[in-house]
Amino acid sequence: MSLPWFDALHQRACDTDRPFVQAVEEVFTSVAGIADTHPEWKQAAIFERLLLPDRVIEFKVEWIDDHGQVQVNRGYRIQYNNSLGPYKGGLRFHPSVNAGILKFLAFEQIFKNALTGLALGGAKGGSDFDPKGKSDAEIMRFCQAFMRALYPYIGPMIDVPAGDIGVGNRELGYLFAEYKRLTHQYSGVLTGKPLLLGGSILRPEATGYGVVYFAQHLLEDLFAETLTDKVCCVSGAGYVALHTIEKLQQVGALVISCSDSQGTLHDAQGIDLKLVKQLKAQAQPLTHYLHEHSHAQFISSSQYPADGHAVWRLACDAVFPCATQNELTLADAQALVKNGVRLVVEAANMPCTPEAIAYFLRQAIAFAPAKAANAGGVAISQLEMAQNASMIRWTYAEIDQRLNEIMRHIYQQIKATAIAYHQPNNLVAGANIAAFKRVVEAMLLEGC
Ligand code: NDP
Repeated sequence: MSLPWFDALHQRACDTDRPFVQAVEEVFTSVAGIADTHPEWKQAAIFERLLLPDRVIEFKVEWIDDHGQVQVNRGYRIQYNNSLGPYKGGLRFHPSVNAGILKFLAFEQIFKNALTGLALGGAKGGSDFDPKGKSDAEIMRFCQAFMRALYPYIGPMIDVPAGDIGVGNRELGYLFAEYKRLTHQYSGVLTGKPLLLGGSILRPEATGYGVVYFAQHLLEDLFAETLTDKVCCVSGAGYVALHTIEKLQQVGALVISCSDSQGTLHDAQGIDLKLVKQLKAQAQPLTHYLHEHSHAQFISSSQYPADGHAVWRLACDAVFPCATQNELTLADAQALVKNGVRLVVEAANMPCTPEAIAYFLRQAIAFAPAKAANAGGVAISQLEMAQNASMIRWTYAEIDQRLNEIMRHIYQQIKATAIAYHQPNNLVAGANIAAFKRVVEAMLLEGC
């Protein structure tokens, strides 16, 4: 790669920027080959401008724990690009959060949002706060303190945060209530809210269900097959994973795994989703699953192979990584291919390493990139924004149908782009080029 931004990116990047560099390289590499046919991109310094977010907001979050002790965390909001619409992207509460991780997620979000065809810019935010082991009251006080620091920078037509790792319905309810207290406004400033606070039916399910709809369109188109009776491996046991499993089971697939940071659960007879949901709701470890299903196996993360993860060493037809970034390595990819995998659908953000993706593509495995496959959540968020603005509510069936249509449209769009740019089986290139062109077209119309 010889574009001028490439060296600058590497020189400027610090250790915490690694995931950001990885995300930028993937997108820019896909479009580098067509840059020569767009001299207007050079004139407008498109690559250079997309290397930097519009702004990085960093703030202090001070809150009081149950013992009366004051605690301090870092909070962030990265407003990356709003050419297509208000900044939009989730909030992540996890001890690993730093500005570099959020910059990668915000960068990805610009292009994911562009693929939905909706008027949404890209952003991401969060905190290094660890919700694990905190009481409900502590979570509430933290969310209130976080919103007190964030609220001047967001608004229904400015920046609309949502959930991500560690931020679900409950946290969004607390965040929304605090925003309302501070501004006296009941507005669509956050999405993923509880239903009674203006949330959308199907928003909790939307990312996972959308992932499965995307997989169905791809399978049907490439192989004239369905997911019925396909053996599937899923990682994670959070929002995205549980709803992916739920929809896979509804369409007749056999899901044999899920996981969390402690290890992997393998049930060859099919994961008992009701039990996993119950364990997670009660903050019980996945090992308790074996109390009811002694034939199942739990592989602790301390027993994982040094070069990868136990969940990807199981034989299956399709995999759905739903936990976190870089959770599927080259060694994992090689093991999966050896064991007969035919379909890889990224449900988490950037879950496969670049080496793993390159390997899957070389082996002609059907590969669905995250920014296309997991865009269902943000698409339904936009419907939540529209509902909040108009005070109209749509039914479950209407939203579910709309979600399926959006996922079909995204699949068709990226496939057509891949074909148009002479890489017919490379949906990574298709997604990156289609999304990049839409964002850049808007940037060019705005001038500088
Ligand atoms: P949750 O917090 O609900 O769940 C995350 C799951 O992944 C948990 O089971 C967690 O285990 C596990 N996990 C997290 N970090 C690690 C790690 N380092 N190693 C092993 N397991 C880990 O998050 P979501 O389900 O909301 O998000 C999952 C992924 O999907 C993320 O990449 C997110 O960015 C992406 N995503 C989420 C969307 C949404 O609408 N929520 C939309 C689009 C993408 P444990 O509980 O033990 O930590």
